[in-house]
Amino acid sequence: MNWFAERRNVTAVGNGSLTPRVSEILEGNFQNSGGMLVRRINNVEFEVKDKVGSSYHVNLGEKACSCFSFQKLLIPCSHAIASAIKGKVRIESLVSDFYSLETLNSAYAGDIVPITTEIETREGITETEGEPVIIFPPSSRRPPGRPRKSRILSMGEIRVSKRC
Ligand SMILES: [Zn+2]
Repeated sequence: MNWFAERRNVTAVGNGSLTPRVSEILEGNFQNSGGMLVRRINNVEFEVKDKVGSSYHVNLGEKACSCFSFQKLLIPCSHAIASAIKGKVRIESLVSDFYSLETLNSAYAGDIVPITTEIETREGITETEGEPVIIFPPSSRRPPGRPRKSRILSMGEIRVSKRC
């Protein structure tokens, strides 16, 4: 079951979470990756020979290719895609998060953050307003021997009732 799912992920380029432009570039690179000879060096490094016979060194771990297209665009080049297919690595996982729609959404979420801060400030004001109410009873209790202080406490109670 998992094997089939993984197989589908390898061959499918983009599942809708990428921007259309990136998907288009990936699609083109994916088609160009056909017919390339890929030799696996290790888990992340591959040697790719294209149809013309030029060989490229791909490092999927560093998201780099000796053609430099991968590093420049942050989108896997045809060599990287050929390597990803060989290494059964999800092509989508090689695309920079910068291009995913999810990142764009989270960027919007980042703009909303200041509003949350405003709410926090409002809460902070509420806390400072609430502070005297909490402080008054214990401070009046500290001098229990003086009856005049208890009258001040009653004034504090009036203030509390005004807030309510
Ligand atoms: Zn390349």
